[in-house]
Amino acid sequence: MSRLRLRYPNGRCKALTLSYDDGVQTDVRLIEIMKAHGLKGTFNLNSDLFAPEGTVYPKGQAQRRMTYREALECFRDSGMEIAVHGADHPFWERLPENVCVRDIIRDREQLEEMFGTIVRGAAYPFGTHSDMTVEALRVCGIKYCRTVVSTGNFLLPADWLRMPATCHHNDPRLMDLARNFVETTRFNDPPLFYLWGHSYEFDACDNWNVIEEFAQYVGNRPEIWYATNIEIYDYIDAFNSLQFSASGSRVYNPTLIEVWFIDQDKLYSVKPGQTVELK
Ligand SMILES: [Zn+2]
Repeated sequence: MSRLRLRYPNGRCKALTLSYDDGVQTDVRLIEIMKAHGLKGTFNLNSDLFAPEGTVYPKGQAQRRMTYREALECFRDSGMEIAVHGADHPFWERLPENVCVRDIIRDREQLEEMFGTIVRGAAYPFGTHSDMTVEALRVCGIKYCRTVVSTGNFLLPADWLRMPATCHHNDPRLMDLARNFVETTRFNDPPLFYLWGHSYEFDACDNWNVIEEFAQYVGNRPEIWYATNIEIYDYIDAFNSLQFSASGSRVYNPTLIEVWFIDQDKLYSVKPGQTVELK
């Protein structure tokens, strides 16, 4: 055994995910575009900030928060992940730690109650963070939290609780990065394309063509795994949980997720509970 090289589910070599914030009416159109091209992603919601039922927005207002019922209808059974974004969208790092913890756990609990799921992901309100916010997220059982840092690369995060993105959809590099991601066949590490934004920006900038062109170009490709943020976290976590014999030639998968990797140019998968000989 040399160093194993991670592959994504079914041996795919690339992964792509989206992360969109604030729970706004334009998320409906974004999800339609994502579904048309097989994309998946995560929507980060503020559970204390749903608009009152029956809200009518002034004509031309781009940022229109959903009501509770609209959000439920949009996201439930959508295949997208729902994640924490602060119940009240505060600057977490400016709060006393106990108040920060309360906002995170309140958002988590209310979203879990609303959607009947277990919520373990987050995106920072305003993107700002500190050592205290990272610790607060950890004690609230949050496994990853997205910042607003754009790396312009496809590396998996070194620190999941300070997770950067590849880029925002308004980044002028967007399509160059997408072409690089799709056309490059040999990456040292399995690449992840991580796109973030707010869907109301497409209305505000009148540029829905940006996401339509991106989705059409990167979507529906057999070599790419389209996943939510937490699906990627859980998959990498399962890979890191593999157990090896002293010689490294036998591997056991103690998790509930089938894991794929390359060893000596050979593709392996290890099913949950399975032991495999590497040769
Ligand atoms: Zn936000």
